[in-house]
Amino acid sequence: MAEQQTDPSVGRESNAAVLSAYDDHMMPIWKSLDVPVKRASGCTLEDFEGNEYLDVFSGISVVNVGHGNDAVVDAAKDQLDEFVHGCSYVHPNEPVADLAERIAEVTPGDLQKSFFCNSGTEAVEGAVKLARKYTGSKEVIALEMGFHGRTLGSLALTGNKAYKKGMAPTLNDVAHTAPPYGYRCPRCDGDQCDADCAEELERIIGSHTSGDLAAVVVEPVMGEAGIIVPPAGWLERVQEIAHDHGALLIADEVQTGYGRTGELFASSHFDVEPDILTQAKGIANGLPLGAFTASAEVADAFESGDHLSTFGGNPVACAAALATIDELQDGIVDNASQQGAWLESELQTLEDEYDVVGQTRGLGLMHGVELVDPSETGPQNVAPKPDKDLASAVSEYLREESNVVMGVGGYYKNVMRFQPPLTISRDQLERAVDELEAALETVA
Ligand code: PMP
Repeated sequence: MAEQQTDPSVGRESNAAVLSAYDDHMMPIWKSLDVPVKRASGCTLEDFEGNEYLDVFSGISVVNVGHGNDAVVDAAKDQLDEFVHGCSYVHPNEPVADLAERIAEVTPGDLQKSFFCNSGTEAVEGAVKLARKYTGSKEVIALEMGFHGRTLGSLALTGNKAYKKGMAPTLNDVAHTAPPYGYRCPRCDGDQCDADCAEELERIIGSHTSGDLAAVVVEPVMGEAGIIVPPAGWLERVQEIAHDHGALLIADEVQTGYGRTGELFASSHFDVEPDILTQAKGIANGLPLGAFTASAEVADAFESGDHLSTFGGNPVACAAALATIDELQDGIVDNASQQGAWLESELQTLEDEYDVVGQTRGLGLMHGVELVDPSETGPQNVAPKPDKDLASAVSEYLREESNVVMGVGGYYKNVMRFQPPLTISRDQLERAVDELEAALETVA
């Protein structure tokens, strides 16, 4: 047995002490930001040496109502005192009952019944199982470049080989269609990308499936792919094609849900009614919880014993989720919408002024800034080459010089991600934009 090097009862007094335990005893998984966190409040993170950072990434788009939100913390503490666990599928309890009822009220369309799990990937896999049970069909279509999680079922839907390297085989019977990535659309020349690009789905069904389709799974705004917003009419056409083939539309709102895009759910920006809607991330402001919600007709395809989760719908997480929804509806979603409109025009100015800013795009407080090398043409079409190195240098500069934590993402790893807590003030957002501009000036 390895010798114990650190006495766990002694608090760690430096960032290095935390990082070294990670190096020694955590599996060597991607650590993109390296900002150890001792505590956090609102939009501020504090490390183990007292340094403060403005957080514009929200723990990968999770703490939508702010770090340490009082109402959420109090709700969780109250529930901790009452009852922590009994398995919500064995012992019916009030937080789960209340949350299921509340989700039926606040989700778009006629979604009435939920299943609770612990994460986004579980929500997606559960949704696919339900779609298979309801339709009696098996195959699934997702979007190239899309992200739906990393367990083997969801990984099959995730349309990016970077996440699959060394991990195959995954779930069979998944095909992928083109994403609505206008800037690098494989089908048309960039800015003309429109609803017609959804017709690619028809071609994929025709040539890459047997037609035995259970579901088409789509993120209404693609997150990990680089904050990609579909053109008008695209999602509506996808829904139509899915239904024409007897498939359900699963909207994966794990990242877009709970106010992120300036609506409680991003599907509401479009004229669609998803058959199943997946949720996680922002649902309980950081407590682990996932869900998928369907109409009563679809949900009732599940029979007793078809699906279960020991921890799913933990009462403490559900109590936190109820408080999160209250907070969101008490002005925080509106703040996301207003600050998002301001952010959009500020980022457009950056796009106009800097050659290295290829495109800026987003909805609400989910915006991406795609960085490029203007001297070289990139893949797919006339858009310049993605500049992954610049994005990581900008992120590092922001962290080291400006104490701003901003995520980097995108299929090509060249997109700066503005996904702050939705409580962010105009001053804080202005600081983040100014610091991004300073970083571009210095690093580019
Ligand atoms: N779906 C989407 C759209 C996501 O963005 C993510 C996480 N980035 C997932 C699913 C997987 O969620 P989790 O990491 O909680 O499994």
